[in-house]
Amino acid sequence: MDYIKDFEKIVSQQLSRVEKMKQTQDFIDYQSLDKIIIGVIGGDGIGPIITAHAKRVLEYLLGDEVKKGKVEFRTIEGCTIEKRAAAGKAIPDDVLDEIKKCNVLLKGPTTTPRKGDKWANVESANVAMRKELDLFANVRPVKVPELGIDWTFFRENTECLYAMGSQGINITDDLAIDFRVITTQGTERIAKLAFDYARKNGKKRVTIITKANVVKTTDGKFLEVCKRVAKDYPDIEVDDWYIDIMAAKLIDEKRRSQFEVMILPNLYGDILTDEAAEFQGGVGTAGSANIGTRYSMFEAIHGSAPRMVEEGREIYADPSSVIRAGAMLLSHIGYQKEADKLFDALEICTVTEKKLKVTGRPDGATGAEFADYILEKVSE
Ligand code: NAD
Repeated sequence: MDYIKDFEKIVSQQLSRVEKMKQTQDFIDYQSLDKIIIGVIGGDGIGPIITAHAKRVLEYLLGDEVKKGKVEFRTIEGCTIEKRAAAGKAIPDDVLDEIKKCNVLLKGPTTTPRKGDKWANVESANVAMRKELDLFANVRPVKVPELGIDWTFFRENTECLYAMGSQGINITDDLAIDFRVITTQGTERIAKLAFDYARKNGKKRVTIITKANVVKTTDGKFLEVCKRVAKDYPDIEVDDWYIDIMAAKLIDEKRRSQFEVMILPNLYGDILTDEAAEFQGGVGTAGSANIGTRYSMFEAIHGSAPRMVEEGREIYADPSSVIRAGAMLLSHIGYQKEADKLFDALEICTVTEKKLKVTGRPDGATGAEFADYILEKVSE
């Protein structure tokens, strides 16, 4: 009956999390800090290579700020699968301490081992970081002007099935149970961020995505709370869809361009945004922001691509995902002019001029050549 104790522990952890969330904090104003410390985490697989390209671009754009002492780039070592597995922790304690000394992070993808892998089966570094730094909103834009696509996904980042992914219980050899958590406070804050974004950016519609007809308790709460928050935004139209038909509607040419801002629980958001990124040229092109009130972390939406490394193709990995994340970082910490410059360069290099094509294979440009191309455009 040990599992009853395990379950009690889970409930008590989540209830204290709810209490913490009730003490709402204001968002940090990065520009009011004496110095903004940008931590750079290379990660695993293709991560260190593509992240170094993005760092090079950001260092160029923020060169004057670094000289003035307003911005510091700080490399964080040790967030690798080898070190994490050896420490038996999702993020080793000393690495977490270093991370917490930064204000904002640019992060390469990190490998998450699964049962049977050569490494200890540690929790996902991403999930741990999102929980530790309370990065509750995962914002993932996908834009394909020629298809009329301009979507911004607000994926809840700290709850759902992922929050307790390593706390499932094997009740017997035959029965395994995982837990899914949705809270009023967790849903309210992601919904408010999405509606505020919609209002600020002139978007007319927000779409809530769940499977509330079947997953009645947790998705039911998510939908109900989002609809309650929506009442404070009467100027914005609201609709709700179930995740299965939503996955289909992203492919429906007549319907898809009507979607603008979407709010989803963690798991559905993870899956749907990978599908969405495919329209833009694949996961290698998509960046994301993980936003909290005190910290924020910016990364590609894809993983460490171990197959590319095994096949010796890591130099051909597309860095535009993490460069795009870097543009989002610039905007978030108050360097909008530099961010716009970088977004424009990405548009020129991947859509309008597209002098180089990154394919992930030797028939395309290398990541370094693409980063040079971006630098050429931002310095024009
Ligand atoms: P993946 O996203 O790493 O790669 C899948 C495939 O997508 C690759 O084989 C490659 O063909 C393509 N791809 C990905 N990034 C690319 C790029 N920049 N340029 C060109 N092609 C690219 O997915 P996976 O193989 O399922 O996951 C590998 C590891 O990454 C796992 O351990 C997983 O847990 C982890 N992961 C980490 C994150 C993160 O750190 N945010 C996110 C997802 C997965």
